[in-house]
Amino acid sequence: MVTFDEARSIILESVQPVGTERIHLLEATGRVLAEDVAAPWDMPLWDNSAMDGYAVRAEDCLSTPCRLRVTGFLPAGARADGIAVEAGCAVRIMTGAPTPDGCDAVVPVEETDDGQQEVTLLEPVKKGQHLRLRAEDVAAGTVFVRSGTRIRPPEVNMLAGFGMALVPVFRRPVVAILSTGDELVELGRTPGPGEIINSNTLSLSSAVLEAGCIPRIIGIARDTRESHLEKLREGVKADVLITSAGVSAGDCDLVRDILEELGAKQKFWKVGIKPGGPTAFAMYGSTPVFSLPGNPVSTMITFEEFVRPALLKMLGNTGVLRSLFTALLREPLKKKPGKVQIVRVRLEKENGCWYATSAGNQQTAILRTMVDAQAIALLPAESCGAAAGDEVLVHYYGNHIELEPQ
Ligand code: AMP
Ligand code: MG
Repeated sequence: MVTFDEARSIILESVQPVGTERIHLLEATGRVLAEDVAAPWDMPLWDNSAMDGYAVRAEDCLSTPCRLRVTGFLPAGARADGIAVEAGCAVRIMTGAPTPDGCDAVVPVEETDDGQQEVTLLEPVKKGQHLRLRAEDVAAGTVFVRSGTRIRPPEVNMLAGFGMALVPVFRRPVVAILSTGDELVELGRTPGPGEIINSNTLSLSSAVLEAGCIPRIIGIARDTRESHLEKLREGVKADVLITSAGVSAGDCDLVRDILEELGAKQKFWKVGIKPGGPTAFAMYGSTPVFSLPGNPVSTMITFEEFVRPALLKMLGNTGVLRSLFTALLREPLKKKPGKVQIVRVRLEKENGCWYATSAGNQQTAILRTMVDAQAIALLPAESCGAAAGDEVLVHYYGNHIELEPQ
């Protein structure tokens, strides 16, 4: 048996990104840049006005109010070639338009009488005011986004601003999903006596999508050697394989043996966590193989704690673990020392503090509390439980956008 932390380290040391590709910027949101990207030109490419107003020479505007002759007009998109601010004059200019020769300040229209032939400046003028200087945002050749950056709208905006329609990103791993067990029937069929619907394939597929990878459903391996061989052989062709069930010590638990027969190298079996203990991890060449317990709660929790960080690393992310924060328990939580206990909780904020309440029955067979949980509390292996008012470490479960009531 390995500890929770050992299991995570072994997994994260074993997995790597699965290659890179160039994709259109429109598809790049949420993907991770695979190269440093340098500015091909200065941003902005010319000095320009930060306001709608008048381009002036500050030395002409020493008295307030001050009157200047308007000799030109520069709308956005215009070129400033051949236009200059002569002594005692101003050029009407719009935001973003290139500043003309001689201009060393822009006076916002709100600080003038808005004159067309002549303009009166009503406020004192400071040299350099309301100018955007060439390269003040990014100078040509400067790296403005680094490899490993997750692409958000600001990155998209900047890449687009530099004309980069195609961007280098890490490829999305294809994740094979295989369920095992004679009791399973696929979604769409009515289960007969003793049968249950193969819900794990669907929830794993959902979790794989949520992590940003591509699920490939392999189906069900029946509890025979032949069926396992056939399905596992197909599964290991993907970038990642996740199996569910058949990994405990029961008579029909064939997954680990058949994986070994195929040539996968087991890195660990059994982790010091509850639920989710009988998890196994192996490498088939460079393909990580996660054998998760079949109980739907255990499958989801072990995906969350072990598979998700691995997928995020394979996608090129540098930070792969959810942030842990402290919450105060509303009620005591019982636990025996020895294993990390994973507790499904709900969170509330009161006077700036987070409070955690158990989401309900914590038995592994109870799916309802998984649905109700907003977060997971991690009780350390050595702890003998926690009392009401104790601090516990928690992390969100799933993509919670906002937990605060409206
Ligand atoms: P096992 O690891 O094969 O003993 O399975 C543990 C428990 O999880 C049993 O109650 C199974 O019926 C259940 N289970 C296994 N596979 C699935 C699945 N694909 N979907 C839903 N429940 C499953
Ligand atoms: Mg089984």
